[in-house]
Amino acid sequence: MTKPSTSPSPADFAHVKEWVFDLDNTLYPHHVNLFSQIDKNMSAFVAELLQLEPDEARALQKRYYHEHGTTLQGLMLNHGISPDAFLERAHAIDYSSLLPHPELGEAIKALPGRKFIFTNGSVPHAEAAARALGILKHFDDIFDIVAADYVPKPAGATYDKFASLHRVDTRHAAMFEDLPRNLKAPKALGMRTVLLVPRNLDDVLMERWETLSDEDDHIDYVTDDLAGFLTGVLG
Ligand SMILES: [Mg+2]
Repeated sequence: MTKPSTSPSPADFAHVKEWVFDLDNTLYPHHVNLFSQIDKNMSAFVAELLQLEPDEARALQKRYYHEHGTTLQGLMLNHGISPDAFLERAHAIDYSSLLPHPELGEAIKALPGRKFIFTNGSVPHAEAAARALGILKHFDDIFDIVAADYVPKPAGATYDKFASLHRVDTRHAAMFEDLPRNLKAPKALGMRTVLLVPRNLDDVLMERWETLSDEDDHIDYVTDDLAGFLTGVLG
């Protein structure tokens, strides 16, 4: 297969009027390590809920994440927990490592049409992160895991729900994500797809880049620089 391009062709985005962004590790980069705090909180929640040792709790959390798309969905289906306490605990993190990113804000502001955050996290988390980045005001709305009835991406039904709730014509939309599997449904719906990868050629990037295979032909573009990419989209 040909690897996805890293620099945008403006013609490829000329028809796009709806700009859809994942939050974690997409609107802020992987190296900020914000998501690692959430990850730790989720493991701690599982350990306390089920009275497990840290290692066991972490293994179970990862299993639920893989089997159900989010730890939360695994806990709801297997243990009947109510989501509110979990979401609050998961997102009780220190946002101070997120710094204002005026260049990103300007790039998002300049995009023609509506802009959305579409996250498997919560609205309060998305608002806090986007506010810290100084970009919250540029978004029209946030579609979170509560709006998705706790069924996370990559479930097709969740993308359908997002599109119908906000009347998004997916043939005129683009989606930005750091998880390849979360771009499959968008591509099938006719969206332009852009995969965010970590900066520097570290192990994560190598691993992900190298695992792009024939099965990943749903990814149109790959970039490690969202602000630069969005600026390039407008030509
Ligand atoms: Mg993400």
